[in-house]
Amino acid sequence: MRPYAFGSRSREKLDTCCEEMVEIAELAIRRTPVDFTIVHGFRGEDTQNALFDSGASRKMWPESKHNYVTVGPDGKCLPASLAIDFGPWVNGGIPWEETHMFALIAGVFAACAIERGYRVRWGGDFDGDGLSSDQTLLDFGHVEYAGISE
Ligand SMILES: [Zn+2]
Repeated sequence: MRPYAFGSRSREKLDTCCEEMVEIAELAIRRTPVDFTIVHGFRGEDTQNALFDSGASRKMWPESKHNYVTVGPDGKCLPASLAIDFGPWVNGGIPWEETHMFALIAGVFAACAIERGYRVRWGGDFDGDGLSSDQTLLDFGHVEYAGISE
């Protein structure tokens, strides 16, 4: 029921993302008309390279936006993924074929980013021209922090 809230597994994954992405996602889960789950935040070397080997990702560690880290106050590296992978959450699962639901959620992310003065880039339109048909890679469940808005 709306407003939705992240479950503990989504929360854990979200907490491996950069603070701007956390801020945008926390707003998005309250505003979305359909529930969604977080599939990936930060991905370590083994996970990233396993996804590359399987063909699910085109990037090897540490080239993905999911591989970003920041330096914590103690000087150690902390996960700070610029990207999250999400999926609509319907009846306890992700309906992967329902691409319109992914687009709807990505639109909520985009609106929430603008509201906070940020920009996001969506995997269904990596070049940001509004079209999905001109993309060679479609990753409908991927959204990444792309800086502050102009
Ligand atoms: Zn992704």
